[in-house]
Amino acid sequence: MSVTTTCVKRAFKYRFHPTDTQAAELSRTFGCVRKVYNLALAARTEAWARQERVNYNATSAMLTAWKKTGELAFLNDVSSVPLQQTLRHLQTAFTNFFGKRAKYPRFKSRKKSRKSAEYTTSGFRFRDGRLTLAKMSEPLDIVWSRPLPEGSQPSTVTVSQDSAGRWFVSLLCDDPTVKPLPATDGAVGVDVGLDHLLTLSTGEKAANPRHERKDRARLALAQRRLARKAKGDGANRAKARREVARIHARIADRRRDGLHKLTTRLVRENQTIVIEDLTVRNMVKNRSLARAISDAAWSEFRSMLEYKAAWYGREVIAVDRWFPSSKLCSTCGTLQDKMPLNVRTWTCDCGTTHDRDVNAAKNLLAAGLAVSVCGAGVRPQRSTPGGRSATKQKTPRREP
Ligand SMILES: [Zn+2]
Repeated sequence: MSVTTTCVKRAFKYRFHPTDTQAAELSRTFGCVRKVYNLALAARTEAWARQERVNYNATSAMLTAWKKTGELAFLNDVSSVPLQQTLRHLQTAFTNFFGKRAKYPRFKSRKKSRKSAEYTTSGFRFRDGRLTLAKMSEPLDIVWSRPLPEGSQPSTVTVSQDSAGRWFVSLLCDDPTVKPLPATDGAVGVDVGLDHLLTLSTGEKAANPRHERKDRARLALAQRRLARKAKGDGANRAKARREVARIHARIADRRRDGLHKLTTRLVRENQTIVIEDLTVRNMVKNRSLARAISDAAWSEFRSMLEYKAAWYGREVIAVDRWFPSSKLCSTCGTLQDKMPLNVRTWTCDCGTTHDRDVNAAKNLLAAGLAVSVCGAGVRPQRSTPGGRSATKQKTPRREP
């Protein structure tokens, strides 16, 4: 697969410290974005029930009408750009749903949904390294932890606040420094697990980041503390919730650092990277904490791998998860009847002793390469540069 694009778009994310006025303006904007998204989702859902299609342009016209009503006049108080953008995001969510790549869009909740607002060029000014958003007089106080590429001009700016209360701004810029790498013969299979987040077909295991065991124990403790706080005890409950969010954020940050290093190295060293497709894994309620963290890390790993592969002209192949990667001997091809989860190493009749995860990674690699050559076998999905793979999903559940 060759990549011909000369310039890739890349997001640069920084923390910033808003003034009280800016924080109030942004919180108001997040609220309006959520309101508009939910109103448009409700309108589209009602239309869908009547077998009618409502597109982006129709919701945009609705927004204009909503702003003229007394009840929703407050939507005029914030920049209209993020409101238009959220309607575009809703359009994308529906396109993915109709393309069977995603579930039916859900309503945004005040507590659980990511707080963010996206500004296109008409919604901000970027001059001399100073970023000023629409409806604001002062530029944002950004912590420039790394420089933007020389002379770059952001095309989109996304402001967000995480559940730990931290503010972030992400600037989408052309990055002329990213160029496809020379082709290589390297190929690797990657298996995902709980003890080790990732196991490579080379036998290498990516350990969980240092401190994570301790962080997880702290997180479990903080979650128990939160669960004990009575519903009525507002202030203490909010405090306990912030503590849980803060530990979550720290675990995620450390993980992300490790994943960036690993994905960059995998993409540099290999032409083909075969992974397991976990998109359709049942999301069982009441999952263990370890499982939840590992799932989140896995989807982050996959998306990093896919965009970096697209940048550097590499290929990511996702193999269907029903492929029996753990039960198959990677040396002789014999299929074992059972492979209970607690079995970490096993010896096949052919005499080979396998590490369970390394064996699975080797099988994934072989399956991915087989399909890469002859185009048949294990129903893999190839990812397209810069995009999601065309993953088959179960019929999405209809929501009201
Ligand atoms: Zn064997």
